[in-house]
Amino acid sequence: MKKDPFVICPFCQGKGPLSESLTAQSNQNVIFTCTQCQESIRNIETSKGK
Ligand SMILES: [Zn+2]
Repeated sequence: MKKDPFVICPFCQGKGPLSESLTAQSNQNVIFTCTQCQESIRNIETSKGK
């Protein structure tokens, strides 16, 4: 029973499953796309600094 974490959209405040909202690119960028309003944010910086 794996529970999907939810993310809250900064545009519409809607909740969506993390696995459906985030798309990882091969260049390590992550694109967030809201499942509710379809707004998207590119090039999210990961907080994992080296
Ligand atoms: Zn939204």
